[in-house]
Amino acid sequence: MTVHTTKVLIIGSGPAGYSAAIYAARANLAPILVTGLQPGGQLTITSEVENYPGFAHAVQGPDLMEQMRQQAQNVGSTLVSDIIVSVDLSCRPVRAVGDSGDEYLADTVIIATGAQARWLGLPSELEFSGSGVSSCAVCDGFFYRGKEVVVVGGGNTAVEEALYLSNLASKVTLVHRRNFVRAEAVLRDRLLANPKITVIWDHVVEEVLGDREPVKSVTGVRLRHVATGEMQEISTHGVFVAIGHDPATALFRGQLDMDETGYIAIKPWSTQTSSEVAWCAGDAAQTPQRQAVVAAAMGCMAALEVERFLMERPISSGAEAGADIDQAVAA
Ligand code: FAD
Ligand code: NAP
Repeated sequence: MTVHTTKVLIIGSGPAGYSAAIYAARANLAPILVTGLQPGGQLTITSEVENYPGFAHAVQGPDLMEQMRQQAQNVGSTLVSDIIVSVDLSCRPVRAVGDSGDEYLADTVIIATGAQARWLGLPSELEFSGSGVSSCAVCDGFFYRGKEVVVVGGGNTAVEEALYLSNLASKVTLVHRRNFVRAEAVLRDRLLANPKITVIWDHVVEEVLGDREPVKSVTGVRLRHVATGEMQEISTHGVFVAIGHDPATALFRGQLDMDETGYIAIKPWSTQTSSEVAWCAGDAAQTPQRQAVVAAAMGCMAALEVERFLMERPISSGAEAGADIDQAVAA
């Protein structure tokens, strides 16, 4: 077992975590970043990213994240392949424990654990993920210009995705398991008034249909009526699953203020949480825009806020910037 001591522990290796690491390392804070189960975060499961500034041509999500990883490492961050399984924010220094059994003692913590889109859980959905099945209209909608798409869900996200896609696609079909959407009234009214959107009520997707050869592509969905069980198939080029997101914030439940869905509350124009030693950046935070560039910007903010905090506060963990940070102890 190793005890890692640091001025700033960054949990998560998506755009928020890597950006925080880059800024913290360049501020000579010698950050430790714990990568988690999905090194690189959500963008590693997508193909082309066309809206991240700095790339004249689309960059592949995994390539973008690999560049961020190398940049974080090159400027002096220590990346640890581990999953944080518990954190005690009431300790000074904060104590976190990894799945590996390692301990992390940190003056401050930047939470960048992101959020995961909920999926329907169908084998066919998984099979066509990234090849016609998406969870992000802003990211992937562009590929469906002039084509037909299906959006699944009835919340604000689903309705916003359907409205967004109606500007690109030739036809949008919203499939919802109830006969009303829970989205707010203004969105509902826009949805129902949009001539390019058709709503199929009281149906769930049973299967995503598609071709496997020569390239994997979606051709339709099989729907089931929730009351009668009657099946129907509709053709489509893309399926956008918009049935909610789950923030990866269970570790902090009871320790930090969150909204009822688990997103961590942050102060206005800040990434500071309700703890004086914890900041939260990216999709795990209460932010209306869940985009990579926003997450990266929030990571920068968090690191700068931590730097300022540490300048004004005495160091409690004994971690010295630039000093060796791992202390091997007997297991
Ligand atoms: P994430 O990217 O979710 O990363 C979270 C990190 O936290 C992961 O590394 C994970 O391993 C780690 N973690 C979680 N729990 C723990 C733990 N207990 N211990 C240690 N580590 C932990 N946005 C765009 O701007 N453009 C796009 O084109 C785009 N396309 C997308 C396509 C898809 C399919 C998806 C799902 C999302 C897309 N997004 C896109 C949204 C974008 O990916 C997110 O907004 C962004 O990744 C959020 O970054 P983040 O750093 O907050 O979290
Ligand atoms: P949400 O409000 O939880 O809605 C999820 C939708 O997906 C619901 O309609 C739900 O159906 C449906 N659903 C869930 N699981 C399903 C399944 N397995 N199969 C089929 N349908 C399923 O999630 P969200 O829309 O992502 O919104 C999350 C939060 O962010 C909400 O608080 C929302 O208000 C907020 N948000 C706000 C805005 C805005 O203010 N403009 C925009 C986006 C999101 P049921 O209705 O039957 O439960």
